[in-house]
Amino acid sequence: MRIILLGAPGAGKGTVAKLLTEFDGSVQISTGDILRSAVKEGTPLGKKAKEYMDRGDLVPDSLIMDIMEARLQEPDCRNGFILDGFPRTIPQAEELKKLLTKLNIKLDFVANLDVPRDVILDRLTTRRTCCNPECQAIYNIKSNPPKEDGTCTLCNHQTIQRDDETEEAITNRLETYNQKTAPLIGFYEKEGLLKTFLSLSSKDTVADIKKTLQS
Ligand code: AMP
Repeated sequence: MRIILLGAPGAGKGTVAKLLTEFDGSVQISTGDILRSAVKEGTPLGKKAKEYMDRGDLVPDSLIMDIMEARLQEPDCRNGFILDGFPRTIPQAEELKKLLTKLNIKLDFVANLDVPRDVILDRLTTRRTCCNPECQAIYNIKSNPPKEDGTCTLCNHQTIQRDDETEEAITNRLETYNQKTAPLIGFYEKEGLLKTFLSLSSKDTVADIKKTLQS
């Protein structure tokens, strides 16, 4: 499959993307994960991105496009990809359109995960992430907790609340989403690629996306 997952922070894009990779071998490409690894490793990209990320602001479009132009040409993308957290702005969407035309790649559709704001706020403040960059498993202290001592059930590393999941950063991320990313819904509607899924449970959303792919 070749799809874009669109949705506010906390809409469940990461969880849905991971479940979809088990379906047909498509790879998940999360710009957030790529940037977090770069920050951890202290690469030049990570050093540039960290201050934006900690505030809950978007990283400049040019940095993101450089990452994505290279990433989409890696061999593992040939079987398909699920874009998670990219594009995030109209300029990114326009650049992506040009890039896909150049690479002769056609998208199946853009899945817009629609989640009520109170559900999103609750999810973001209760989310914990495994600190191991190789794992990054996502937990929820209410519905899917890590082990009692706070370690990851998969790799035993500590789970943490991300720097951008403080209340202040969350408020900023949601505001940024409304201003910069929500306009992509109209962009992809005009392109005839938009499918909206009311997304309260990741498993149901994955089933709905699979059905849409098969129809
Ligand atoms: P995420 O895990 O997708 O919520 O991304 C975490 C943070 O990484 C965001 O709050 C942004 O600072 C940055 N980021 C991720 N993807 C993008 C993107 N496509 N454009 C700009 N910034 C991004």
